[in-house]
Amino acid sequence: MAAPPRPLFLLTNDDGYFAPGLQALAAAARRHAKVVIVAPDREQSASGHSLTMNAPLRVNEVAPGVHALSGTPTDCVAMAIQQLLGRKPDLILSGINAGSNLGNDVTYSGTVAAAMEGTLNRIPAIAFSQRLDRRPGGKSPDYAAAAKLALQIALKLLKEPLPSGTFLNVNFPVEPTGEVAAARLGSRHYDESVTRRHDPLGKPYFWIGGAAPVWREESGTDYEAIRRGAVAITPLHLDLTHYEQLPRLAPLAKALSAKKARR
Ligand code: MN
Repeated sequence: MAAPPRPLFLLTNDDGYFAPGLQALAAAARRHAKVVIVAPDREQSASGHSLTMNAPLRVNEVAPGVHALSGTPTDCVAMAIQQLLGRKPDLILSGINAGSNLGNDVTYSGTVAAAMEGTLNRIPAIAFSQRLDRRPGGKSPDYAAAAKLALQIALKLLKEPLPSGTFLNVNFPVEPTGEVAAARLGSRHYDESVTRRHDPLGKPYFWIGGAAPVWREESGTDYEAIRRGAVAITPLHLDLTHYEQLPRLAPLAKALSAKKARR
């Protein structure tokens, strides 16, 4: 009997095709699937869900099945699906990002946006991020260990897909205890994210996101989970509608409607 065809996994990230987290994920994924990498040719962290619409995109196959694109993670997924793969992949894996993508930060994350783009194309997708030990002399990330667990999650999702429009955001802790926790998004304070300094000529410049974020201590969140050494798995969906507020807005919408539109 012929072996079942191997699934096709698209791998991408926002750190660039050369990033160690992506390499580790690819090495683990190749044991289970045909892997094609389409990733930015340079770091695109915090690019969010942006698409390049004002510049040409160039793609270079830097190794067999490894495409470096002069664009964002979202560009990578679009290019892969429409130009490079020849068919829809069975799964999109984004990461493993160097640095966590927790709570509110998922909206800035290029890693998470690539998974979003897959979801919009009705392809199951997972974003993976590794929290970094930023203490002086801190331990370097074990991407191989994270990738092993990432593939367990990926294969599970392949067998039992999430409902359409949903995807997973996974964060690996600095000191794993072996626990895996289902967690909601946490939230953090934003009041001190812009730093003002002076250049050597005395002119001011600004740096966004330099200081370590301050998270709210809330139980059940992804932040709390990785703080205690658990891998945090968060199901996300792209429908941002706040359904409870819909009926409340109806009278306002009606009041604002032009007279001729009234029945
Ligand atoms: Mn990144």
